[in-house]
Amino acid sequence: MPENLDPFDIALQQLKKAADAMKLDKQALELLSQPQAILQVSIPVKMDNGETKVFTGFRVRYNTARGPAKGGIRFHPQETLSTVKALSAWMTWKTAMLNLPLGGSKGGVICDTKKMSKGELERLSRGYIRAIADFIGPEIDVPAPDVYTTPQIMAWMMDEYEKIVRHSAPGVITGKPLENWGSLGRGDATARGGMYVLREAAKSIGLDLSKATIAVQGFGNAGEFAVKLARELFKSKVVAVSDTKGAIYVENGVDYDKLLEHKQKTGSVVNFPGSKNITNEELLELKVDVLIPAAIEEQLTAENADKVKAKIILELANGPSTPQADEIFEKKKILVLPDFLSNAGGVTVSYFEWVQNNTGDYWTEEDVHKKLDSRMTEATKAVLDTAKKYGVYTRTAAYIVAVKRVADAAKSRGWY
Ligand code: NAD
Repeated sequence: MPENLDPFDIALQQLKKAADAMKLDKQALELLSQPQAILQVSIPVKMDNGETKVFTGFRVRYNTARGPAKGGIRFHPQETLSTVKALSAWMTWKTAMLNLPLGGSKGGVICDTKKMSKGELERLSRGYIRAIADFIGPEIDVPAPDVYTTPQIMAWMMDEYEKIVRHSAPGVITGKPLENWGSLGRGDATARGGMYVLREAAKSIGLDLSKATIAVQGFGNAGEFAVKLARELFKSKVVAVSDTKGAIYVENGVDYDKLLEHKQKTGSVVNFPGSKNITNEELLELKVDVLIPAAIEEQLTAENADKVKAKIILELANGPSTPQADEIFEKKKILVLPDFLSNAGGVTVSYFEWVQNNTGDYWTEEDVHKKLDSRMTEATKAVLDTAKKYGVYTRTAAYIVAVKRVADAAKSRGWY
């Protein structure tokens, strides 16, 4: 059967699988199979050449049974409503998975930031917030950075929101620069959270991470810090790393600082001195203990899943495995640590930022790391225990934990 790769269909297929395994109430499944609200806006922006260009933006609020919705804003030329809907559903499961008192949402604007000046980007960011201002708020829906949106963009957005509501409201958006009350520890939060998940998972199968080999696909925010922290926290050997231009293999493990310097100088990880250039496809199929997809979606598919030799897959990227790849991994008994658990460190520190903004009490980086560790550890244990209890694949187990929490909150509110 050909794979149907419509993002929202994938999200629904995954939800249905979990609903079957946990025998979820039919009404609950119906309720959780659709977003609560969808807003589409058009944003007129005065461009530098004097002409007005109208951009299309979306904000999807998927579910608020557990609290205000939380989810990033993507600025992407190929943004679609289906992608934003899927991502808003995944945010709902992710916040529930981490037991945060939040729901899930997502936003997006169809635009190519690489072709825009800083001024145009600022006017678009402010225009988007004016268009969705009634739909968001510290106690309604709290955006954050995502693909091609930055802390600077968050600062403009917070500023625009505060002008509209005419009072200070730093908790309206997270991922802000430190000087606008962002949280310490946000920079490496996604990879660091993933490392805590990996540590617990490795323990559960008796894998000694200090002797483990790791391959990382992607060398951006998530991948780069994964390479750094795997060595720093566990002394693991990262033997392969890639980016859009290709991949490298270093038998004795890469030196993070030197690789970063090489990437900054040449624009890519390829041709790193002392390494062998390989392809991205080869990286995914290497005989390593841990494979970390940290680039983009749909990298592990029906085509290559059978060739994956890793014992553990830590999904730092969103949606790197298709449902058909999942079936193969399940048969091969590969321990897959699903995206909405593995990469939840980012949203968890975003939640910490929101808490700090709302209370005015600011934490040290050490506090943030400790609190992140305890949340990620608890969530990982919940997934591994549920997988054992129900005899199900880990992604399904993660869905069971998260969906049950959302469904229970909706039920006692009387939503079904
Ligand atoms: P990024 O843009 O900083 O980095 C992406 C990296 O992937 C770059 O090195 C790029 O060269 C590489 N890449 C892109 N296409 C590739 C391909 N086909 N093959 C190999 N490498 C490729 O992005 P990021 O913030 O690191 O995000 C990576 C993934 O992690 C995304 O799926 C994102 O949704 C997810 N994620 C990130 C965060 C975060 O806090 N950064 C949080 C949650 C999830």
